[in-house]
Amino acid sequence: MMDYSPEVFLNNIAQTTPFPFLIPVERAEGIYLYTPEGKRYTDLISGIAVSNIGHRHPHVINAIQSQLEKHLHVMVFGEYIQSASNRLAKKLTELLPPSLNCTYFVNSGTEANEGALKLAKRFTGRTEIISCRKSYHGSTHGSMSVSGNEIKKYAFRPLLPDVRFIDFNKMEELEAITDRTACVIMETIQGDAGVRVPSKSYMKAVRKKCDETGTLLILDEIQCGMGRTGTLFAFEQFDIVPDILTIAKAFGGGLPIGAFIADKNLMQTLTHDPMLGHITTFGGNPVCCASALATLEVIEKEKLLDQVEKKGKLIENLLKHPLIKEVRRIGLMFAIDFDTQERVEKIVKYAMDKGVITFWFLSHPNSFRIAPPLTITEEEIKESCQVIVEAIDRS
Ligand code: PMP
Repeated sequence: MMDYSPEVFLNNIAQTTPFPFLIPVERAEGIYLYTPEGKRYTDLISGIAVSNIGHRHPHVINAIQSQLEKHLHVMVFGEYIQSASNRLAKKLTELLPPSLNCTYFVNSGTEANEGALKLAKRFTGRTEIISCRKSYHGSTHGSMSVSGNEIKKYAFRPLLPDVRFIDFNKMEELEAITDRTACVIMETIQGDAGVRVPSKSYMKAVRKKCDETGTLLILDEIQCGMGRTGTLFAFEQFDIVPDILTIAKAFGGGLPIGAFIADKNLMQTLTHDPMLGHITTFGGNPVCCASALATLEVIEKEKLLDQVEKKGKLIENLLKHPLIKEVRRIGLMFAIDFDTQERVEKIVKYAMDKGVITFWFLSHPNSFRIAPPLTITEEEIKESCQVIVEAIDRS
C-alpha cells in the first residue's frame, strides 16, 4: 500500500518550511519525476545538484544491485577492507591531482566539511578559520559556524569561536589570512549565494596567500563538483589545487555519501593524538560507494563533461527575456535574477504547475536556480525553456 497523504507528510514528518512543494513522487527516471496520477515533472534542479547523471541511471542501478547481493554495512569506517570503498578511493585518486590521494568517506556534505575543518585544525595546530560571506557549507554546528548567512544562524548561537568572514572574490580582504589561520574554507563556485563565479586571479591569490602563511585551503565542491561546471571539479578551471577537497550530493549518484580528500600525510594526523580524530559509523557504506563509482564511470563513458558548455549556452540563449535582470552561469549551474522575490515566486510556481521544476536559493531571494541533469537532451532543454519563458511572460 502506497501512502502519499499530505496529512501524514505535514503532521508526522518534520517540516522545515511553511510552504513545501508537496509534489507526490511515485517514481523518477532520467530527468523526469512522476506522480501517482501520472503527471510528469521535468527536474531542472537535479534534486538540488544531486542527480547530475539523471535519476536511476541503469549503470548505477546495476552497481547497487550487485553490491546488495554481497553485503550491506559490515563495520564502522576505517576497520575492514571492503572492495566497494577500495575501488572508489582508487578511482578518485586516479582522477584527482597527486596531492589529493587519500579519501575519508562520510555521509553528507556537512559532515565532509566538519571533517575537513577538524583535519585543518589538527594538522596546523591553529584555531582560526576564515570563510566567506554569503557562503553555505552545511547545517550542523561547525559547518553552520563557517556559513555566511546570518539569518540562518542567529537562533543557534553560540557557534564555533575564531571564525572570520571575508568577501568572496575581493582581493583586498585576503590580508585577513595570516599565520594564525588554520584554514580558509570556500566554495569554488558559491552556490546558494546565487551562483557566484570568482576570477581566476582571485583563486590563485587565495592559494598563494595560504601557501605563504601555512594555511590550508579547503574547497567545498559539494554543489559545484561532479561535472556541474563542465570539468569534473570546478577548481580545475582555476589552475589551483586545494589542500582538502569536500564533495557530496552528486557524488553518490542518488545515494547519500560525502568525502573529504587530502594528501595521505595530512590525513594521517587523524590516526593519533587523539586516535580516531574523526569517527563515523556509516562512512564508506558499500552500497553508496558502489553507486558513487558507477556514477563516475557514467560521467566518463558518456563523455558528459564535453556536453556541459554547449547545453549551458543553449539554455542561456533560450532564456533571453526583458524581465531578466541578470543571468550568472558556469556550465549547467544557473542563477536567473529578477527585480523582486514575488516575481520569482510567481515564475517558479507557474513553471511547476506546468510540470517544470526550478527552485530558490538559500541566500539570494531575487533569483531562481536551474541546474538540470547533465544528461538532459537539447530537445528537453528547448521544451523546458519554453515553459520558463511562458512563466516569465505571465509574471
Ligand atoms: N556545501 C555546499 C556548497 C552545499 O551546497 C551544501 C548543500 N546545499 C552543503 C555543503 C551541505 O551538504 P549536505 O546538505 O549534504 O549536508
